[in-house]
Amino acid sequence: MEFGDRFAYETFRPGQRELAERVYRGCTEGGILITEAMSGFGKTSAVLTGVLSAAEEADYKIVYACRTKRQINRVVEEIARLQVRHPFKAASMLSKYDYCLLRRHRAIPPESFGWYCTFNTSNSLCSYFMNVPLTKAFGLLVQSTLEKAPRHHELMRGAEAIHVCPYEVTRLAMVQARLIVVPYQYAFDPRAMSMLFDNGSVERKRAIIVVDEAHNLRDFYRGAGSATLSLDQVRGASREARALLMEEAAKSLSALESSLEEIITATHGWRLDKGAVVEKFRSDRGTAWLQNLAFELSASSGAAWGSVMFERRLPSLILRVGEFLSKLSSSSPSVLVKWDNYLGLVDPDPVRTTSDYLGEFGSAILVSATVSPSSVFARSIGLDPAEVRTYQASTAPTVSVRTAVDTGTSTRYRLRTPEMYSKIANRIAAVIGSTTSGVGVFAPSYSMLGAIFEMVSKRVGGRNMVSESPGLSNDQATDVFDSFRSADDSVLFAVQGGRFSEGEDFEGGAMGSIVVVGLGLPPPTPMMHAEYAFLKRAGNQDSFLMLSRLPAMRKAFQAAGRHVRSPGKKGLVFFLDERFGSSTAIDLMPTWLRSDLTIGDFSPGTIEAFSRGFWDTQTPPLPS
Ligand code: SF4
Repeated sequence: MEFGDRFAYETFRPGQRELAERVYRGCTEGGILITEAMSGFGKTSAVLTGVLSAAEEADYKIVYACRTKRQINRVVEEIARLQVRHPFKAASMLSKYDYCLLRRHRAIPPESFGWYCTFNTSNSLCSYFMNVPLTKAFGLLVQSTLEKAPRHHELMRGAEAIHVCPYEVTRLAMVQARLIVVPYQYAFDPRAMSMLFDNGSVERKRAIIVVDEAHNLRDFYRGAGSATLSLDQVRGASREARALLMEEAAKSLSALESSLEEIITATHGWRLDKGAVVEKFRSDRGTAWLQNLAFELSASSGAAWGSVMFERRLPSLILRVGEFLSKLSSSSPSVLVKWDNYLGLVDPDPVRTTSDYLGEFGSAILVSATVSPSSVFARSIGLDPAEVRTYQASTAPTVSVRTAVDTGTSTRYRLRTPEMYSKIANRIAAVIGSTTSGVGVFAPSYSMLGAIFEMVSKRVGGRNMVSESPGLSNDQATDVFDSFRSADDSVLFAVQGGRFSEGEDFEGGAMGSIVVVGLGLPPPTPMMHAEYAFLKRAGNQDSFLMLSRLPAMRKAFQAAGRHVRSPGKKGLVFFLDERFGSSTAIDLMPTWLRSDLTIGDFSPGTIEAFSRGFWDTQTPPLPS
């Protein structure tokens, strides 16, 4: 089939056909292909076109793994367009929690949801589940979702209309689908993978895996392989156990708290000897005490079922402690660390299995907007650069972006003074005041975001200003997004690396200028030290670049690209941090960001004049 007949749009944007062809070839050759294409390139539709063509020829399935639910929604929208041009079956799968119709009027924490669903289905208390084999329309709904990928709310509405569980609809659709879109969990977390691979939906060697925003893989593996526990959480679990009449468990949890407190205070430095800690529990409390407690807490299903029945809060802290103790007493290669009142278990080499795992698929396509330098990127996710192929999609001058790096500001920890915050706020206010379209402001952390939002709000009036906050649900995030779009000159405050800085579409002129505040280097926690130490021992001289600087730069560049959604787009990007002016940072910058770059210490007045000039298409040079 000619790519043009399958492509979702009338014409290809520059570079899209080439990307589709390269992805097609990558799939037919097998192995791992890393592809890079800038924000706004339209890489999702190009990649889908190439991968679907190859999969249909070989009669393979496709697993399309996305980091966030919002990214899944965007892929689903592209799929629905492609299905209009060329019919194929597709399904997407979120977590059961996202689909549950029964829990809508109850506050069930996600950690305890498994019990809730099991309790209701095994006691015939969920009519949505019981109706599945009884409702003739169920099969029709499955077929219609396969043929035209529904948005999440459309599926929920369709399932509710015939009173069946939406999760069961997607579960059956997955078995028949050519293309399955899933969150990373189902593709990469051993605890969740069985849903995709053990029920006959996907046979890895007859499947192509596409990893969207693949630069997040290391973070994902790190999160899945690590666990933290605080003394406060152990205390909380003890309270939960007492409330659920688990007297023995409550006593054991109190004993655990004293032991952990003793261990934390007796050890100097951040690293603990995991074997010695487990041995201490054995000698102090008995050989199997730790394993028994871990099992009792993780599997305290009777108590959990009771809490479901009597509508009491489900014991999420009990589960958390149980999970931590299971990991502590397992033979996994994790390292035990401590800080303040916390203990952490971290896998110092979280990506050790990536290469073998991806090799089990017919082929693997890794997609990102920022993979340069590709050899560091490959190693950061556990791949040997010599064994992967890379393709950088052409970024021929399709956008007109002017970039300014302000060296008069910094978010380095020691420079975070009230004066510096004030300087930053004044510069942001200058950008907002001189931009008549929307503005995006991306901070390195939620705490800085809150402070900046407050200060800028006092300086700027008459603009609709919305801010991201931690832990937003999907619906709340949609509200923030809708509020931003409700006015042409809204200002969005969000964090770098958050849900609004990757994979979110700010169409047309919705966002004209972007301000990236600070470099979001990860805090130097003992968890990070463990990874650094491992990489150093393995002979990596660039562990800081790989684990800290490059991921932080990537987040900043991803945020900077939020407003670039289509060819011909014009925009301004301000980096407010002197570290973006270093030669290393400029070398790492994507071409489209550094092709018109000015560096200097700019006053708010200079920024304002420059910004106004740019939008009036007269662009006076910034003094540098
Ligand atoms: S079967 Fe579906 S609707 Fe019923 S409790 Fe489970 S997830 Fe919720």
